[in-house]
Amino acid sequence: RRKWSRVVGVLKDLEQSCETTVGRLRQVVDAMAVEMHAGLASDGGSKLKMLLTFVDKLPSGSEKGTYYALDLGGTNFRVLRVKLGGTRSSTLEHDVCRQAIPQDLMTGTSEDLFDFIASSLKEFVERERDVSKLSLDRRRELGFTFSFPVKQISVSSGTLLKWTKGFAIEDMVGREIAGCLEKAMTRKGLNMRVAALVNDSVGTLSLGHYHDTDTVAAVIIGTGTNACYLERIDAIIKSQGLLTASGGMVVNMEWGNFWSSHLPRTVYDIELDADSPNPNDQGFEKLISGMYLGDVVRRVIVRMSKESDIFEPISSKLSMPFILRTPLIAAMHEDDTPDLEEVGSILRDNLEIPDAPLKVRKLIVKVCDVVTRRAARLAAAGIVGILKKIGRDGSGGITGGRSRSDHRMRRTVVAMEGSLYTGYTMFREYLHEALTEILGEDIAQHVVLKVTEDGSAMGAALQAAAYSSYP
Ligand code: ADP
Repeated sequence: RRKWSRVVGVLKDLEQSCETTVGRLRQVVDAMAVEMHAGLASDGGSKLKMLLTFVDKLPSGSEKGTYYALDLGGTNFRVLRVKLGGTRSSTLEHDVCRQAIPQDLMTGTSEDLFDFIASSLKEFVERERDVSKLSLDRRRELGFTFSFPVKQISVSSGTLLKWTKGFAIEDMVGREIAGCLEKAMTRKGLNMRVAALVNDSVGTLSLGHYHDTDTVAAVIIGTGTNACYLERIDAIIKSQGLLTASGGMVVNMEWGNFWSSHLPRTVYDIELDADSPNPNDQGFEKLISGMYLGDVVRRVIVRMSKESDIFEPISSKLSMPFILRTPLIAAMHEDDTPDLEEVGSILRDNLEIPDAPLKVRKLIVKVCDVVTRRAARLAAAGIVGILKKIGRDGSGGITGGRSRSDHRMRRTVVAMEGSLYTGYTMFREYLHEALTEILGEDIAQHVVLKVTEDGSAMGAALQAAAYSSYP
């Protein structure tokens, strides 16, 4: 009896330290806008890197021709051929080829890796059935999505800052990436130009803008999280007077690294961070993305099991980091069977906790709810932070002195991707709810979150079209 009350105490503490009142969320919104400003003022001015992309135009739907995309960002790479018909509704056909990167190439030399990729590209190109006239008298053009931290030099070139996700090719760090690929393509006898080197979030923004030109930002919430948006070039102080034809430039925020003292943080987050390979890094990401949510929940359950005997016998599984993946959290959270049977079987099959009584299963669902709700609401605050920075939060922006009521809010679209948002209904609903709470219904009705699919590859092909040398 006393022990159960301690478990309830753990839950109460969790709820309290995860609290995201609308007041708190507004503080996060302001902090995001302030940090964006600081990151745009100077390199190292904020934990937000606010990387320049040199992308000053986004596809509009009128692009024409055949373009390729190469998407390299994990254990697989994909090649895509996209045919654009000149109108949005016409052709957007595409062929895909997907291939795993052999393990030894991930830690070998850059020549070996890029030779492998160039060979696959060449094979793919040679399988083209209808080699049209166009592709004979003009060089093929490629958009290259390279989802590692890159310091962009131009729209089609950039140097690798560091490898992540299991890649470790030391001779590559600091080198220009598109050039390495182009040299490999030349070695393999493939005549193709890298027209755009893009981050995956920029790909999502491009695809979103192709379909809907009111799109001003893109947010990815999957294993990790990131966002990018279209900024006025004169607001990018660190670009030192750089001019673009459009007067704008896409900025890759790398928002996973955002931090603010207003973010609600628990002992579980602090432990998770300390145990991670990158402590003090990617703080926002650790609160909201799919890689971590499950493990926050697991840590809460561990604490509960230490406070009481409700999980006896203690399973050794429970102490294994990352054993409880986020899709399982979603499945438990959304269990609509009357007796929470799904929760019961997940606890049994994944954590070796057999026969958890109903009140324990209800408790677990509550923990999933608290952790997911916080994540979704913080993501919403982040999005409003971007809208505030560009004057689309209904407050009239930095330049406008008009009052809220006479400021006409323009339709504003944010392209969304990532399985946490697309696959986890409760997460998505909590995010939408918070967005409306923060903005108020009058403004929120003008803000549209629109799911794009496969922006990281499709968007790269569209960027290649936008930056084609055959206008
Ligand atoms: P990426 O790895 O490129 O971000 P995704 O956008 O598909 O790919 O995100 C995968 C992540 O999303 C996984 O880490 C997983 O934790 C989470 N995830 C996938 N499906 C679901 C789901 N139905 N509910 C909750 N989380 C999910």
